[in-house]
Amino acid sequence: MAELSIERIDVFQVDLPYSGGVYKLSGGREYRSFDATIVRMTTQKGIEGWGESTPFGATYIAAHALGVRSGIAEIAPKLIGLDPRRVDRINDAMDAALIGHEHAKTALDVACWDIFGKSVGLPVCELLGGRTDVNMPVISSIYMGEPEDMRKRVAEHRAQGYIGHSVKIGGEPATDAARIAAALADKKPGEFFIVDANGGLTVETALRMLRLLPHGLDFVLEAPCATWRECVSLRRRTDVPIIFDELALSDASIIQLVADDAAEGIGLKISKNGGLTRGRRHRDIALAAGYTVSVQETAGSDIAFAAIVHLGQTVPEKNLRCVLESRDIVALKTADGPFDVKEGRVMAPTLPGLGITPRLDVLGEPVASYF
Ligand SMILES: [Mg+2]
Repeated sequence: MAELSIERIDVFQVDLPYSGGVYKLSGGREYRSFDATIVRMTTQKGIEGWGESTPFGATYIAAHALGVRSGIAEIAPKLIGLDPRRVDRINDAMDAALIGHEHAKTALDVACWDIFGKSVGLPVCELLGGRTDVNMPVISSIYMGEPEDMRKRVAEHRAQGYIGHSVKIGGEPATDAARIAAALADKKPGEFFIVDANGGLTVETALRMLRLLPHGLDFVLEAPCATWRECVSLRRRTDVPIIFDELALSDASIIQLVADDAAEGIGLKISKNGGLTRGRRHRDIALAAGYTVSVQETAGSDIAFAAIVHLGQTVPEKNLRCVLESRDIVALKTADGPFDVKEGRVMAPTLPGLGITPRLDVLGEPVASYF
């Protein structure tokens, strides 16, 4: 292998305003903007790779934006001189520099894949296993609100072409049942619904809510409870399909999920799961288990969406639930590229690497550089 080595890593910080005002999740959580960390990695031959890591605030999972940049400060100096194409070895080096902190590792890992693709003239999806011919459905994100308001926002997304909807609920059984019934009231053939509690239910409130629902509603229940025990307990008492998200974030947890027969699928969020190298492995474990996979991000702009699309493009149609249109949630564009969503669907471009061109005027000056 001809020599290629990481010469420099620059870190940019951008605030991404939430496009819809205030985003509400279970437990009284509110979000108005998202703090994005974007990395530019440069090799000694001048090839640039880009990656993004944007936590969903500081109260979604154990990750936050200051932690991303602090983690990168720990890791980045240790990557200088390494070959970015040896992605597993890069991850070994990152783990040797810092335990955990997958969000910090993600932007660096994705930048390596971007360089890898550019260095061989192939899109990242080809390196991740090869593209399917699936025109992938994108999913909307319907924050928690009044039932009729949620129904209206589902309709707005439907009018834009979305066929999948992630509907957020909050923990009070009657209100949540009304939210679900309203959101699904105008369901069209071919549409699918993920009802996402983001860990906000107890087993008791979940069971009561399910009993209040009209019979025959077609949805899967994502992340019902905050703990593993509660989710597994609920699963034993209901026939509603269960998807894990916040609790499925590592090799160990996804293997345990299979061992416990605790779900029908996972939400694979690239920065939650630690980047494309780890995401590739989590995809494969999920496929081996016969799970459905939703390829997503905690949050993020165009660079994060590019990584989502490339990983999603490698999941066979039978197992691919959807990809998250993360750009729909933020009101700032950080990069350009052929990632148009047409009639609610998207395909990975054929350009080398991620296929994005960052907007340097939006990114401004680096907040940190390592070389
Ligand atoms: Mg979720």
